[in-house]
Amino acid sequence: MRRLLRSPLWLALLLALADWATGFSDPVAHGYWHAVYKNWQNAAPQSIVVVNVGDISDLGSAGEARLIDLVRSSKPKNLYLDSKFHFDKISSDDAKLRVALDKLGQNTVFVIRPLNNNHFIERDKFEIPDQSLIRNRRVAVSAWQDNFIWFAESAPYWVEIDGTRYPTFSTELSGVHSGLQSLYYPDFSVDPDTIPFISARALLDGRMPSAALAGKAVVLEASGQESSLRYFGHGTVTPAAFDIAGAVALSRPINVNLSGLAMLALVFALLYWGHGAATKRTKWLAYSLVLVAVLPLPVLLRGMGLIAYPDAAMFCAAVFASIRIWQKRIKRVQHTSASGLPNMLALSNSTLPVGCDVVVASVARYEEMLATLPRELHGECARQIARRIAVGCGATEIYHSDGGHFAWTEEARPLDMQLSHLEGLRALFAAPLQIGPHTFDTNIHFGLDRNEGVETATRVNSALASANEALANGRAIELFEAHRLAEAPWELSLHARIDEGLRNGDIWLAFQAQWDIATNRICGAEALIRWNHPTRGPIAPNAFILQAERAGRIDALTYWVLDQAITAAQAINAKGERFQMSVNLSGQMVDKPDLVRNFAEIAARRGIDPHLITVEVTETSTMGNRAAAVHNLTQLRQLGFRLSIDDFGTGEASLAYLADLPSDELKLDRRFVARIVDSDRERAIVASTIGLAHALGQTVVAEGIEDAATLALLRDMGCDLAQGFYLGRPQPFAVFEREYDASGLREFGRV
Ligand code: C2E
Ligand code: MG
Ligand code: MG
Repeated sequence: MRRLLRSPLWLALLLALADWATGFSDPVAHGYWHAVYKNWQNAAPQSIVVVNVGDISDLGSAGEARLIDLVRSSKPKNLYLDSKFHFDKISSDDAKLRVALDKLGQNTVFVIRPLNNNHFIERDKFEIPDQSLIRNRRVAVSAWQDNFIWFAESAPYWVEIDGTRYPTFSTELSGVHSGLQSLYYPDFSVDPDTIPFISARALLDGRMPSAALAGKAVVLEASGQESSLRYFGHGTVTPAAFDIAGAVALSRPINVNLSGLAMLALVFALLYWGHGAATKRTKWLAYSLVLVAVLPLPVLLRGMGLIAYPDAAMFCAAVFASIRIWQKRIKRVQHTSASGLPNMLALSNSTLPVGCDVVVASVARYEEMLATLPRELHGECARQIARRIAVGCGATEIYHSDGGHFAWTEEARPLDMQLSHLEGLRALFAAPLQIGPHTFDTNIHFGLDRNEGVETATRVNSALASANEALANGRAIELFEAHRLAEAPWELSLHARIDEGLRNGDIWLAFQAQWDIATNRICGAEALIRWNHPTRGPIAPNAFILQAERAGRIDALTYWVLDQAITAAQAINAKGERFQMSVNLSGQMVDKPDLVRNFAEIAARRGIDPHLITVEVTETSTMGNRAAAVHNLTQLRQLGFRLSIDDFGTGEASLAYLADLPSDELKLDRRFVARIVDSDRERAIVASTIGLAHALGQTVVAEGIEDAATLALLRDMGCDLAQGFYLGRPQPFAVFEREYDASGLREFGRV
């Protein structure tokens, strides 16, 4: 039921049914028919003539008697006495009138109207003339059902008064006494102004020949028979007009009310068709037919004698249209990014053409650029990047999410072609961006999803995740592997799993020794996080740290590591020798405003001298706000923490980093270290880096030492500290502690 109510279509139907049942939109139907009959008018049949008795009222009953005699002698086809006669208490005149009435033949019908001004409702009172006047001649009743503002709508074929059934006047006029339904609907296209009216006085004066009445249905109508009943398209009209319009309707072969429900069903079917239609053209056709169904169709049907009130159908269409317009508006708002470009949601909700790849580009240092630019240029910045992408790849639509991601679709070329195409696009970003007076060097990283057939939203997210990874790893393009889709639920619930892992000890810290090359002793350790998942087994830190960053759990993890590492450092320091503990700080956290406060708070609470803690930082482009990062690190250093530049030589701008950041230590990346034995070039790079670091007053740590030869070379080059599998693997603390205790007794470097 709730699902149904969320659909604009079913909601519209439900409300329209309620509307139909309560008559809420009756004013709409009224307005519709009134407008229709204002413009749709036909001449009244000339076979029915109305003689206005009112204009001889001054002649009293004697005048009426003369008129009746005159009309009778003119041989009308039928005579309808739609008038209350004035028996004016002058007995001789009244006697004349009675005689005149007596002389009338069987083609005479006495017409009576409700005392209550023509309105026909159950409790209406009718006054039937006495039998001495009627004398076995027919009696007809003019009785109408009207709408909420007294416009006549329909009439019954007969009315029962005091146990006797009397036909209604229109049925007498037309000779049609029954139909498929109990009510009939007058034809208001009959223009009341064209009904032939003859003045009674003109007849009596002889100005109008009585022959004009011969063979006609003559209605003797008293004027002043004011009726508050109204006639569609006109308003108040002469009472006989309703009965004539009724007679015209009855003389048609059909007079059936299809009911507003039939219209509603038709319109609903059309809306249903349009709403579900796949193509714009079909939608157009369906919705145009809805307009036809609610506007001209009821008129056409009425012309054929089929009555169809369009108000419930109109209501349904209006509700549906309003909801759709509202939904579209919301969608437009939701689907536009601040730059005015369509956003990722718009792409995610679209249906992708067959044979296309989804590409997301992540722009390096985007937030930094925005921080430099005045607000009014932010949109321009995004649009300029989008234009450059569009020029490079020929895409017509570039989607933008506010975090510096741009997405589009590419024709699915063979992979090597696609990669070189994107490389070409990347080259376009070698030229700096010029936004207002500002110039920016930038770089762009791509995430590519080639999983045809998967839901669009999933593909966009995959490409987005890959673009983030490319950016984080400094790679040009990252391809989203299909098998990772299976990982999605795992990645999404990581938040809770990390908390659980911390609680039950599945997440723990390993310690890898750092040896002082000069003294041949372990002088410190690097704390490295480990996760032994109960079902997945050990998970590599690189894998889940990235996920933890995305899941917003990296803060909690980092502070937990710091706390655990302090516990370990204090245990070793208690043995008497100075011991240095290194912890890793994620690039994502370096610029966080509360980082320094939290580090200081933990160190103070745990009562450790910050000089005993080394914070290792890797330069990556995930580092959002560079200025804030440098500020934080400088402050940490001022608090006493040692700073180490991790993985030196692999980051995006290591030298620049070295210049910006007052650091105490430089860690040579193991990719360099591993190659110094075999490669003269790498050896030269490492040697000169050591020289450079020393010149800047930094300690040099070589990580990833896997053999004695490497260690020997590093010692020759003057490297200060050594770390690697050759010297000791990352171990649980208890194992590490034993190793530490034994290290003074062992020959350097022998594990
Ligand atoms: P890293 O900071 O560069 O850590 C050194 C990595 O090199 C560790 O990998 C270590 O096990 C490995 N390693 C040490 N000696 C050798 C060797 O001789 N040969 C080889 N092949 N590898 C060696 P691990 O533990 O897999 O950690 C990988 C990365 O995960 C770390 O790189 C660090 O960036 C990150 N990480 C680990 N723990 C944490 C943490 O608590 N917080 C944060 N933010 N990052 C962490
Ligand atoms: Mg490290
Ligand atoms: Mg490292």
